[in-house]
Amino acid sequence: MTELAQLLEDYEPVIGLEVHVQLATRSKIFSSSATAFGAPPNSLTDPVVMGMPGALPVFNRTVLEHALKLGVATSSQIRAKSRFARKHYFYPDLPKGYQISQFDEPLCENGHLDLILNGAVKRVKLQRIHLEEDAGKNTHVGAVSHVDLNRAGIPLVEVVTAPEITSSEEAAEFMRSLHRLVRWLEISEADMEKGQLRCDANVSVRLRGEDRLGTRTELKNINSFKFVQNAIDHEIARQLRLIDSGGRVERETRLWDAVAGQSASMRSKEEVNDYRYFPDPDLPPLVVDGATMATVLRTLPELPVPRFERYQKLLGVSADDARTLVGDRALADYFDAAVKAHPGEGGRTIANWMLTELLGALNAANQDISQSAMPPERLAALVVLVETGVISGKIGKEIFEESYRTGEEPAAIVERRGVQQISDEAMLWSIVDRIVGANPRQAQEFQSGKDGLFGFFVGQVMKETQGRANPVITTDLLHKRLGR
Ligand code: ADP
Ligand code: MG
Repeated sequence: MTELAQLLEDYEPVIGLEVHVQLATRSKIFSSSATAFGAPPNSLTDPVVMGMPGALPVFNRTVLEHALKLGVATSSQIRAKSRFARKHYFYPDLPKGYQISQFDEPLCENGHLDLILNGAVKRVKLQRIHLEEDAGKNTHVGAVSHVDLNRAGIPLVEVVTAPEITSSEEAAEFMRSLHRLVRWLEISEADMEKGQLRCDANVSVRLRGEDRLGTRTELKNINSFKFVQNAIDHEIARQLRLIDSGGRVERETRLWDAVAGQSASMRSKEEVNDYRYFPDPDLPPLVVDGATMATVLRTLPELPVPRFERYQKLLGVSADDARTLVGDRALADYFDAAVKAHPGEGGRTIANWMLTELLGALNAANQDISQSAMPPERLAALVVLVETGVISGKIGKEIFEESYRTGEEPAAIVERRGVQQISDEAMLWSIVDRIVGANPRQAQEFQSGKDGLFGFFVGQVMKETQGRANPVITTDLLHKRLGR
């Protein structure tokens, strides 16, 4: 049997994702029941959710605003008048016998989502973003099956990528980027453990250079970044081995078992026609009016990837640090506030202090940035004290720690503790002169080539000044005094 790595030289994987994201609303997409998580089974229902004859759906406009934010943030074409359609299938968790979704006239098409992959921006095309309602949940206990409709009617967007993702890493990064974006836009909490972001992965392989797509399988309902990657890796390997041994990939839906680390066939894929889509006669066309669009545009924040680029190009932050900073909107907002409070071009230095000292303190206390005991303006003030040489970087860390703990302003702590850096050349010269004079043996050895002894002299000066001597000036003066 051929090695997997060898097969991957000849074949390329092709992946398309369909990601469902729960939109954060108080009530359901077509009725007034609450969307709360963890309520007793079937306590969040009403005649619309239960599909009672004659009960009519009424569209929740907040859903539209949320979906439009995502549409604009992904540069999608937005349909001024889109339509809801009935998608029929028969399952106990779907009392109406159909799911209200969108079919040939979705709200958004032809957008893209930018990912940060290996320090660079990679664009993934989106075929569509449409609205739909969630179904209920079936639980099977022995011979008995239970249906809980609390989740039925929860608003979802389905984001469908073009078949252009070429690795499991990229697929996982797509999920992370979408997760970050919907939270950034405040349209979803995207809590994967509560099923608020979940994905179906379509996977095929084809010979490199081939234009036509291979036969795909679909992996259903994957709800973690790690599982996406594992499930896809596993499926690529399964397909390649199958082809290598003379078999053919069947079009089917497979279920990923994260515990066993393998997938199993669930059903052969139904054709589109099986769903018997048709426009829902109970709902009018979904019209995007100017006022709604204006609100969406006005409230749209600067997005993560443009910020990632701005931090590097305008503020000199490294790609790694920039990626970390835009990992979370609160973190990026904190950084922007600190940069704004800094009188110069402190971007790079502020990023350093934030990502080491501040995140260190937050991690130690198991807190996130929103709970930071140090406001961004205060961090900027501390950075300025270091940059202007009032205190050394080492003392700066101590001041940070004390200020974080007590809330006292860095300048006040410096003043009280008298730890200002000594940059006065005359004063430092007299210290350097005295120390070299008091250590003639070391001075002589250094002069005859023992380089390592330079550190000894720096150490002596620091000891004498309790670490307050300006290291640049100290080094300079020592060289002068020692004559090399
Ligand atoms: P369906 O409605 O049956 O799920 P679609 O044609 O709408 O099928 O495609 C759904 C997803 O499958 C999209 O993300 C698309 O990119 C992906 N896809 C389609 N064909 C392939 C293929 N041959 N290999 C990998 N992904 C594919
Ligand atoms: Mg599908």
